Amino acid sequence: MTMSDPLKVPDPSYFNEELRLFRDMVVKFLEKEMVPKADQWEQQGYVERDSWRRAGEMGLLVPSCPESLGGAGGTFAHEAIIIEEASRLGVEGLNLATHNVVFSRYLVNQASEEQQAKWLPNLLSGDWNGSIAMTEPGAGSDLRAMRTKARREGNEYVVSGQKTFITQGYSADLILLACKTAEDAISLIFVETKDLEGFSRGEPFDKIGMKAHDTTELFFDEVRVPRTNLLGEEGSGFSQMMQGLVEERMVVAIQAVGMIERALELTLDHVKDRKAFGRTIFEFQNTRFKLAELSTEATVGKVFMHHCIQSILNGSITPDTAAMAKLWLSELQGKVVDECLQLFGGYGYINEYPIARMYRDARVSRIYAGTNEIMKQVISKGL
Ligand SMILES: Cc1cc2nc3c(=O)[nH]c(=O)nc-3n(C[C@H](O)[C@H](O)[C@H](O)COP(=O)(O)OP(=O)(O)OC[C@H]3O[C@@H](n4cnc5c(N)ncnc54)[C@H](O)[C@@H]3O)c2cc1C
Repeated sequence: MTMSDPLKVPDPSYFNEELRLFRDMVVKFLEKEMVPKADQWEQQGYVERDSWRRAGEMGLLVPSCPESLGGAGGTFAHEAIIIEEASRLGVEGLNLATHNVVFSRYLVNQASEEQQAKWLPNLLSGDWNGSIAMTEPGAGSDLRAMRTKARREGNEYVVSGQKTFITQGYSADLILLACKTAEDAISLIFVETKDLEGFSRGEPFDKIGMKAHDTTELFFDEVRVPRTNLLGEEGSGFSQMMQGLVEERMVVAIQAVGMIERALELTLDHVKDRKAFGRTIFEFQNTRFKLAELSTEATVGKVFMHHCIQSILNGSITPDTAAMAKLWLSELQGKVVDECLQLFGGYGYINEYPIARMYRDARVSRIYAGTNEIMKQVISKGL
């Protein structure tokens, strides 16, 4: 807990000295080297490769990769620290979350040793980045309706189809592609994008928020991929995705907590400085009560986040618990950012103020990694 931390949440029991030192290093690095670049990423719509490589040099790419595979041998706690601090410092545009967890956890947790040895070094150094392609124009919430197909031909799969809304789709060097290998069998296949015949990408979408992320459509026209690129068993893609989505949903929840902390910190600074009717905005009972309520909910949310991270660390997290975290924290994120923007008055509506960008960026948390309606379905199944 730092002095400026509006949430009264001490470090959880899984935190040790090594994690505290890691967090200090992450914060110093992001503040010094990445925060100054955040506006540029936002304007150009992507993160240049040098920033990735720098993050790699600092050990911030896939820190949970085992030492035997050239990684730092960390855990999900290291990943969570990076995600929360990047969001708290307003540099989630760097999007280590997608590369480190949403994509790379499949490689670290579920891939063969050959696949890990082949791809992890480039992903650790930042020479390559990765993304995962599940969604299609006709299959978002209903993933089983996907139509992208991979048929076997000798030692290869031949892939045809289309994906959409793929984060880092425009820049990704390695894509984990979800596709049908039989009428009712979904498989996950790694696709190296360099010089790949039959593969093309759309222009990045013009989104209302998360503008530093290059989100695109992907097109596959009889694309040939080695059969050795299959993740695990053929036909096990749906259960692999359900496993991966647990951590992906926690990513959204952790990002939400980071942004909530940032919104509250910036708003407290603003209302204690800005004056109206001869006193600071903070002195109005409405402001104090509003911030008291939001800090209380944020504190409850952060404790729950730590509980879920602890459950991932000891292997006891369930899909419905991760869905609860994603649902509740993304809803809270939207509410906190909206209420904080109101306390900025007209300045909150001006893009130059970080709270305005947070307002735009927060909205997608209720949509991606499974919409919040789908989270309620997942939770209700467990009741
Ligand atoms: C910025 C951004 C980045 C993304 N990144 C990725 C990525 O990297 N990889 C990837 O694969 N996908 C990605 N997505 C896709 C995202 O996961 C989907 O948009 C999301 O799962 C919803 O699918 P859909 O857009 O097709 O909406 P639909 O499935 O068409 O849903 C429309 C509405 O209907 C509701 N609905 C649907 N089914 C039900 C139901 N059974 N009960 C009640 N309500 C229902 C939904 O909740 C929603 O409100 C991204 C999306 C965005 C916007």
